[in-house]
Amino acid sequence: MSQVHFGHIFHVAGSGTVADAAASLVSIEDGALVIGDDGRIIFCGNRVDHDGALPSGADPTVFDHRPGFLLPGFVDTHIHFPQTFAGDAYGGGQLLEWLTLCIFPSESRFADPEYAERAAVEFCTRRIAAGTTAAMVFGSAFPHAQDALFATTKRAGLRIVSGRGIQTVGGDTAQPLLTSEEDAIRLTTEEIEKWHGADTGDVATALLHVAIVPRFSLSVTTETLRNLGELYDSVRERGVYFHSHLNENARPGTGEVDTTKQVYQVDSYLDTYDGKFLPGSTVGGKSLLGKRSILAHCVHCQDSELERMAETGTSIAHCPVSQQFLGSGTMPWKRTIAAGVNVAAGTDFGGGDEWLISKVLSDAFKVHISEPGDAGVSMHPAEMLFTGTLAGARALDMEDRFGNFDLGKEADFIVVEPSRHPPLDAALKYGIRSDDAQLAREQTLFVLLMGIREPAVTEVYVRGRRAELS
Ligand SMILES: [Zn+2]
Repeated sequence: MSQVHFGHIFHVAGSGTVADAAASLVSIEDGALVIGDDGRIIFCGNRVDHDGALPSGADPTVFDHRPGFLLPGFVDTHIHFPQTFAGDAYGGGQLLEWLTLCIFPSESRFADPEYAERAAVEFCTRRIAAGTTAAMVFGSAFPHAQDALFATTKRAGLRIVSGRGIQTVGGDTAQPLLTSEEDAIRLTTEEIEKWHGADTGDVATALLHVAIVPRFSLSVTTETLRNLGELYDSVRERGVYFHSHLNENARPGTGEVDTTKQVYQVDSYLDTYDGKFLPGSTVGGKSLLGKRSILAHCVHCQDSELERMAETGTSIAHCPVSQQFLGSGTMPWKRTIAAGVNVAAGTDFGGGDEWLISKVLSDAFKVHISEPGDAGVSMHPAEMLFTGTLAGARALDMEDRFGNFDLGKEADFIVVEPSRHPPLDAALKYGIRSDDAQLAREQTLFVLLMGIREPAVTEVYVRGRRAELS
């Protein structure tokens, strides 16, 4: 049945870049979103005009969310399922020590199917609470845990791209997560065959998709990278994704970036994912980059790495909450954007300790205005909204399906009711606004994005269907 939702609508229309976001911002104070039987948007405009959009004889269900807001669903382009219970892990220090001391032991507990099942329910519950309609999810090493994740996500009605975390080399605490080279390829292939497009049988309409996910270059070998390149080459045409980490921790000599360069003897970290993983960045296999590839962090990229990501259509998952928690530094916003690479938002939970993408956008605003000298920038609220919604849909190569309220797209949206979170409600009601109408609406969006907390996200819809776990 068709549906009509009333509320204050904000979205970034069209298919521009982050540089176009301010000009493409749509704000409809007394708005209506009309959704057809097929879950697609057939009208987005003023409430008084919505009647004309309905097919004759239609008897839609009407939801009046006023004075609430309607926003596109948040897209989280980097989050770790096996770290569902590992948020705010203390005593690890920076990235490599935190992985060894806190994360590998946590992720190893997913060997217990009951524990993994519990985590899958919690993970989907947190996603719904945070309004994350689509996500690139770094998966568990254990196939039974991935089965629980996909099955629970399907039951909840959420979108997901995920793949089991691949590790073929590691220290003592990583041992339960390691497989042989052969099993790494076999288990990943089996996951693709079992879950890629499994809900509808067609990746163009599916909510469930699979990615090839080595944790990072230090968790695999040149043999793994060569085999994964071959595997990816054979499944690219089927819309399979690639996901990993890049240039997160640059502690001199002993951090992730320097260690990767020492182990592989390559000119740049990105080369290891680009088929050039042999000493001297010599080609040793096929590239894993492309328009369905997302690399998390990219805090310390060389210009050549940013250029190569832009050229291949590879996106960045920007995770400032996590970067602060692990002392990883700040991704240079202006320089990264100027390179032309698509930058979307990621919570990186449990490296990050927030499930809400709007909290990631809030931290992005704070860290980028604090960058030194000319690098500092005050992000426009439309750029923030773009980064948390449309840029994410683009990173997932599903921009034609969701990410904003353009007509014909699948209706992924959230309802925000400020009255459910009094500090947000008060800021919206009593905060000062410019006399300039355009600046005033931008100020309202800014307050909204900075101030949303889970209780204010009251309803979450994917393809016009309410997401919930019964
Ligand atoms: Zn991560």
